[in-house]
Amino acid sequence: MNRAALPHPDPEALAALGRDELARVLDQRVEAAWELCREVHPDLPMPRVWLDLRGQCAGQAHFGRGGLRFNPVLYTENRLDFLVEVVPHEMAHWLVHHLKDGRQAKPHGREWQTVMRRLFGLAPRTTHRFDTGRASPAPHRYVCGCGEHGFTPRRHALASQGRRYRCRKCAQTLVYHPGSAFENVR
Ligand SMILES: [Zn+2]
Ligand SMILES: [Zn+2]
Repeated sequence: MNRAALPHPDPEALAALGRDELARVLDQRVEAAWELCREVHPDLPMPRVWLDLRGQCAGQAHFGRGGLRFNPVLYTENRLDFLVEVVPHEMAHWLVHHLKDGRQAKPHGREWQTVMRRLFGLAPRTTHRFDTGRASPAPHRYVCGCGEHGFTPRRHALASQGRRYRCRKCAQTLVYHPGSAFENVR
């Protein structure tokens, strides 16, 4: 059984926060996660933080921009889970990227999983169950042999009634997979 390394946020206090306060709480959580990472990598730079991600993705470590991007709609609607899980998830990417040989590591590979388990005390999940209906016009996740596809509610309803859709690239039938990826892995 894992034990979360970061303190558990107070859900009632979180629920009462406005937009600016939420952004500040997110910054503080990123900083706390960064401090934890510095125990194993003292030279780790502090990532910048943006709330500018749209669609189904909850977060993204953007090494070119030098920071972490987060989805403001999913954060506002899932405050507690977002702080508990999404912030460490992205910070773990940030840490692995800055480790020696970290750039060769797979995005959710052994190194990333080890950071999630051992450092943050969290299960290394790569999908979230946030309701993405307001964050994305095509929130329903379908998978094929080559990747993921977002279905609109209308298309999802047709598929639920038995209509089959094939991927244009790999020709496999698309299969419904509830739960969205934390980010589009590049
Ligand atoms: Zn495909
Ligand atoms: Zn990830």
